Amino acid sequence: MYRLTKKKSTRSLYLTIILVFLISLFTAFVYYFVLIDELEIKPKTIVNNNDNIEKQINYRLSGLELGLKQNRDLLKSIRYKLDKVFKDINENINKQNEEIEILDYIRDNSICLSKKSENVFKSNISLSDVYEELKFDNTDGGVWKQGWELIVNETAFTKANKLKVFVVPHSHNDPGWIKTFDRYFREQTKHILDNSVNKLSQNTKLKFIWAETSYLSAWWETVKDDQMRVKMKQLAESGQLEIVTGGWVMNDEANVHYFAIITQLVEGHEWLMDHLGVKPKYGWAIDPFGLSPTMAFILKEMGFEGMVVQRVHYAIKKYLAYNKQLEFRWRQSWESNVDNDIVAHIEPFYSYDVPHTCGPDPKICCQFDFKRLPPSRVKCPWKVPPQKITDNNIHQRSLLLLDQYRKKSMLYKTKSLLVPIGDDFRFDKTDEWDLQSENYQKLFDYMNSRPEFNVEIKFATLSDYFESLKGQTNLPTLTGDFFTYSDRDDHYWSGYYTSKPFYKRFERILESHLRSTEIIYSLATIVNHHSIDRLNALLPMFVYARQNLALFQHHDGITGTAKDVVVNDYANRMFKSLENLEKISAQSIINLLHYETNDLNELKFVDKLPNSYTPSVKTVFTIDNNDQIWYFVIFNSLGFSTHELVCIHVKPILNNWCIKDNDGIQVENIQINKVWAMDKLLDDRIEACFTIHMKALSLVQYSVEVCNDIKSHRTPSAVTLYNFDNKYNNITENIISYDETPTEIHLETDNIGLKFSGADGMLRQMTINDMTINLRMKFMTYGTRPGSKKVQKSGAYIFLPDNENAQDLVYSNCKIRITKGNILTKFETIIEKPIPIRHQIAVIKDKKYIEMENEFLITHSLFGNKELMIRFFSDIENSDIFYTDLNGFQMIKRKRYTKIPLQGNIYPMPTTVYIEDEMHRLSVLSGQPLGTTSPRSGWVDIFLDRRLLQDDQRGLNQGVVDNRKTRETFKLLLERVSTVPSRVPQELKPTLESQLELQKLLTPPVLMYSTFKSTLSEVYFLHNPFPCNIHLMNLRRSSKGNKYNLFLHRWAVSCEAKCANASAIELTKHFSPIVTKSLQPLISRMSLSALYEKESDISIDSKLNINEMHINVYQLQT
Ligand SMILES: [Zn+2]
Repeated sequence: MYRLTKKKSTRSLYLTIILVFLISLFTAFVYYFVLIDELEIKPKTIVNNNDNIEKQINYRLSGLELGLKQNRDLLKSIRYKLDKVFKDINENINKQNEEIEILDYIRDNSICLSKKSENVFKSNISLSDVYEELKFDNTDGGVWKQGWELIVNETAFTKANKLKVFVVPHSHNDPGWIKTFDRYFREQTKHILDNSVNKLSQNTKLKFIWAETSYLSAWWETVKDDQMRVKMKQLAESGQLEIVTGGWVMNDEANVHYFAIITQLVEGHEWLMDHLGVKPKYGWAIDPFGLSPTMAFILKEMGFEGMVVQRVHYAIKKYLAYNKQLEFRWRQSWESNVDNDIVAHIEPFYSYDVPHTCGPDPKICCQFDFKRLPPSRVKCPWKVPPQKITDNNIHQRSLLLLDQYRKKSMLYKTKSLLVPIGDDFRFDKTDEWDLQSENYQKLFDYMNSRPEFNVEIKFATLSDYFESLKGQTNLPTLTGDFFTYSDRDDHYWSGYYTSKPFYKRFERILESHLRSTEIIYSLATIVNHHSIDRLNALLPMFVYARQNLALFQHHDGITGTAKDVVVNDYANRMFKSLENLEKISAQSIINLLHYETNDLNELKFVDKLPNSYTPSVKTVFTIDNNDQIWYFVIFNSLGFSTHELVCIHVKPILNNWCIKDNDGIQVENIQINKVWAMDKLLDDRIEACFTIHMKALSLVQYSVEVCNDIKSHRTPSAVTLYNFDNKYNNITENIISYDETPTEIHLETDNIGLKFSGADGMLRQMTINDMTINLRMKFMTYGTRPGSKKVQKSGAYIFLPDNENAQDLVYSNCKIRITKGNILTKFETIIEKPIPIRHQIAVIKDKKYIEMENEFLITHSLFGNKELMIRFFSDIENSDIFYTDLNGFQMIKRKRYTKIPLQGNIYPMPTTVYIEDEMHRLSVLSGQPLGTTSPRSGWVDIFLDRRLLQDDQRGLNQGVVDNRKTRETFKLLLERVSTVPSRVPQELKPTLESQLELQKLLTPPVLMYSTFKSTLSEVYFLHNPFPCNIHLMNLRRSSKGNKYNLFLHRWAVSCEAKCANASAIELTKHFSPIVTKSLQPLISRMSLSALYEKESDISIDSKLNINEMHINVYQLQT
């Protein structure tokens, strides 16, 4: 690290001299020739390194532009030529300097200026425009409460234009909700699947769709009769039983990260191919509480042709229904290629149960749910029970039902009508199968036999329905998302964005470990493929981890909307998964670095979870004898190199310890911090922090050991305490205690200046890279709607605040602890009452962001029915506009509306929220999914946790009171958005910095330790990092052992990042020979879940083009 810095500074001095000369020369050129004639610049005149040349030139050009408005066109053409020149320069630089730091990328604003306005296709329906237009007034529509009275036009149905009704039997099986996955399977799902196989085999007219592969897998494993498996395979192959979506679960779409969506779908699809030999083509997401276009993108990339969704805000449903736009081609906001749209279908009514799927009147539809035939325990709440279909009533019953079908069909453009029949865990008893199939078949036969009805009706699957749509009509295109969902009144489902954040954070930790283990495991099996027996033996443990990460993506898993017993089951599965990943990573690293031991228990994570309900703790390395050596290995799973802070806890019984790098050279600069638990000093250990440089995709070994000749500077940080007990003054060096807090506290490092208030221990002002903004933070709370038990209140799903205004969290005498060192500086605020909170703002040397960490426990009885939130008050003038991400995959613009209540203005923040004005963008990157909003210009709210004492009447039947001690991590970035006079709007693209910092927050390097030494101390798998916007999303070994799917994601980053131009990569130029030499020379390009081969026999050294925003999958073979 030190050496590198020195080298750099010499180089920049040298370059600066050349630059000054070149810039003067160039400026002279421009002044002389711009007004006379178009300038011809040949690359050679300025080919000579360094980033600053472009910055300087751009600066000059920008100045010129202001004065020479009339010559704008001319300048544009010069810029175009300069771009070409710079491209050449940069290609040269990249070739010459493979060590170049990722953040040293070329910031070239001329790209922004010269960029032609992209040919973005305008969609017919933009949901943000619909939001603008709608009143959200919730008028009573009669029997269709959230719609209007529908009157059938009898003449619309003729012999030539019959209504085609596709009745689709389904059963919605939550993989955990009120019961655990296993209990549901044992008591209900097993029977549903048994019966489906039997009943479908007996009646070929009957059809059934199934979505959750986790349950298929459980059934497959437990079914005793092999003939049942054969039958299921036949039914799936023939399409009589259609697998829809086919993910491990029907995932949530608000909190999930796109890596996890892809993982859970790949897991399901791989199982389906291996066991049933089928590829799902249609999506089915009837229960997720709001819907994301990321899902549409992913399904399309997986080869899907259509999708059905259900939980859309009732006002949006009504609007789309009124305009016959409930079927559309869902388009991504950045997309210009029509081939990337996917056909989507929204069910128009309140729910996916039978009363709400046949037509607008639930009182009538319920009469056609034959499970409710008396004397069934399940009854129709509208008090009119179904009637068994007989010869006497069939005419009347048919007309009654057909009228509903016709009314529903009026909401769509075509004469094809989808009618799901089913509900949660339906079709578990043979009786129900018989009642539904027999009564419906009678109705179908009768209706089909009456020509004057002009109807064709049958049992069907989604394929049958979507096939019938093909070529019928041109569907409108739609862009946008379906958050925040409301099913009725002002009941917005924004609570689940934050419910049970402990497990939301746990999920992100597991996700990060799953990704890094996938990659290291694949690399280990590729590189040492002759000795992979031990690794092969671990595959079942790996599959367990993949499947349980997948399981938690369920829409009652990561959402925090399952019963406590189910949450504990998920947590135990995730904990066990993490233990499995630790072992698999250990064995992979042992193989790769040739350890002295082959025992995988000898290599452990440094950060470990003691159990499934506490935050992680750090392993303490005791140095108590002269031969003591702790080895630790650091894995950078990212495709770029980086300088990262590493902190380990040491118990130095002997004082002459040191840290050595992979070359055996002592780390020169170590910061020594004291270790605290809230306000208590843990004086048996210290924290040693140092910076390491990690090459792209590399493993490197360090050690902590006794050294006779200490060369490093072990600099203790200085600790200042306010409001602490005085006792630390006397017993411990480098601590100064004060009884009183000053009104203002300033902290300065090289890049960053922070100003805090002493009164509440919270930030007031922030300066990063010469940009200063007032930024005040405050913990605040919301209560829930007051009143009797009958009043709807907040619960696991729903947020219904007591007031539009949040209350301050009132506390006094907070303790403040400042730890100031030459690498890391921390400002910690410790609040004891009413709830314990540790709030930390940290700054790391050479980093241009601040870190925020909040640790809290809100179980105190005073905190019942409260939501904890942190508010940022800034002077950024964002008005009512803010931006949030969808699934960590794309950004979306949000607008705060006064016509929508507070709870409806809250949006999911799976990873990011930012606000901006002409000058600055303030981004908050989050290590866990939470809810967010901007309640006023300059403000950002982030919900941290919630404790709710009652059920919110959506079936869970309990509140949220199992709060855990939770640690949440964030990064805050302040960026200049306007560096050029005429900025091209780039609002939907994060900067490269924020993409990189987010990636590092979500997938930090993995630290493991051992007392055994490895033979190799460093391996790097990329000898040339990927271009800075190509993200190594995954390298996943498939169930067919020698196949590996490489997922490369090309980020969209704002225009000034030069790497945005580099779309083609060559694998052999990046992967080290140790990797490529074991690979076959030909690779294939696959669809996103590897179900389809898109292109075969591609040479491994050919140029691979990855479009912006896309994730390309290449299948490699050993
Ligand atoms: Zn569900």
